[in-house]
Amino acid sequence: MVKRAHVVIIGGGIIGSAVAYELAKRDVDVLLLEKGEIACQQSSRAWGFVRQQRRDPAELPMMMRANQIWRDLEAELGTRFEWTQKGILAVAATEERMVYYRDWYEQTRTFGVESQLLGPKAIHTLNPDMQGAWVGGIYTPGDGHAEPGPATKAFADAAQRLGARVCAGTTVDAIDVSNGQVRGVRANGEYVQADTVVCAAGTWSARLARTIGLDLPQLAVRQTVVEVDPRHEVSPIATWTPTVAFRQRPGGTVYLARPDDGDFDVDLDSLRYARPFMPNFRENRDSFRLHFGRRLLRDLPRLRPNSRAWRKQFTEGDGHDPEPNQDVIERCRLSFVRLFPHLGMPEIVRSWGGVIDTTPDALPVMGKDPNVSGFVWATGFSGHGFGIGPAAGLALAQLISEGSSEFDLAPFRPERFAESRQIQTTRIA
Ligand SMILES: Cc1cc2nc3c(=O)[nH]c(=O)nc-3n(C[C@H](O)[C@H](O)[C@H](O)COP(=O)(O)OP(=O)(O)OC[C@H]3O[C@@H](n4cnc5c(N)ncnc54)[C@H](O)[C@@H]3O)c2cc1C
Repeated sequence: MVKRAHVVIIGGGIIGSAVAYELAKRDVDVLLLEKGEIACQQSSRAWGFVRQQRRDPAELPMMMRANQIWRDLEAELGTRFEWTQKGILAVAATEERMVYYRDWYEQTRTFGVESQLLGPKAIHTLNPDMQGAWVGGIYTPGDGHAEPGPATKAFADAAQRLGARVCAGTTVDAIDVSNGQVRGVRANGEYVQADTVVCAAGTWSARLARTIGLDLPQLAVRQTVVEVDPRHEVSPIATWTPTVAFRQRPGGTVYLARPDDGDFDVDLDSLRYARPFMPNFRENRDSFRLHFGRRLLRDLPRLRPNSRAWRKQFTEGDGHDPEPNQDVIERCRLSFVRLFPHLGMPEIVRSWGGVIDTTPDALPVMGKDPNVSGFVWATGFSGHGFGIGPAAGLALAQLISEGSSEFDLAPFRPERFAESRQIQTTRIA
């Protein structure tokens, strides 16, 4: 392995890979370290929605820029990853849900996202085969979807072609800091000197940062996704209904998931960060089941720094390669068949679990750490980091190489949780 790089990025998901690409474009000497394969975690398990719709206003300018980037990205990176720009539709079965869509629409009109509030008739026109008693919905024609794993790999490959060094199978388990300045990392037992370290380690970010005394409230929720083959055209529009979200890939298979049907494994971090997460826990309590036991027991030996158990937390799968929840798979299929009864029960092609990293306000953490010079946060994308990834990569590369970004990064500053007593609650699904 190389002994020195100007910038070391920890984590080869969409965020780390996009930052590497944008830095390499700027001729910055960059080394991307990934403990598994590129895109082995969230960035290959996502549904693939690329969504401006219903974004927090703080994220919208960056997401709108990401949307522009997505339109030409296959040509730019020289790879196909099934980019489909036919819009995203969310339908409401209750007036309460419709109020939420209307509020978002009103609140973000000035940003210029082309969304439309729809009545039941217009929904029927968009997708005549879909059954359901809808109060209304919201449609954003400029939104789209893409295959997350191939898109992420395309970023890493393009970064490599531009001179970035990309090392898969390389685990960072220590970050070297002296006199408040990052000096390097230890990866697979070797020391790599660096001026800047970007923490894009997804659900592992908080525990890595804790090794240098930094604290980030970050938790993880398990989700299940199933790919089915309905053997017919359903719709190119990625769609959220109250019971199932679906998107049809260009080849015809369909991804199904239930936004409100997650599993939450209580671990030591859940107790550590119970306070900052409490408002959102209450707001989203009906969206997941709580599981007590194994994870908590596993974490206790990890409390002793530098013990074998402590070191293992960086290397092992760590329950982050979870089995999909079989009950959720069945609920997905049943919900789908209720929407499209004429298609019958769709055959399962494959299914998988994925662990989403979240912050208390469901906004990412992007920016320079105020206490450790050279440490840059790029994490906490709270279930919607795939879509915004290309612009997040751009923002962080600008920040690192030029000292500032074209985006307002203040809402994402790492210190906001320590500053604020009142955390904004967000409905995540
Ligand atoms: C089921 C599911 C559905 C989703 N659907 C959508 C969607 O439709 N649209 C959307 O926009 N977003 C979606 N998301 C969220 C999106 O996938 C994530 O926000 C995004 O992929 C986060 O990217 P990342 O690079 O931060 O993290 P990750 O992709 O998790 O990458 C982090 C990487 O860091 C590596 N790593 C960790 N620790 C170390 C270490 N010590 N040394 C070296 N490497 C390390 C990991 O192996 C991993 O590959 C979904 C997520 C899931 C799980």
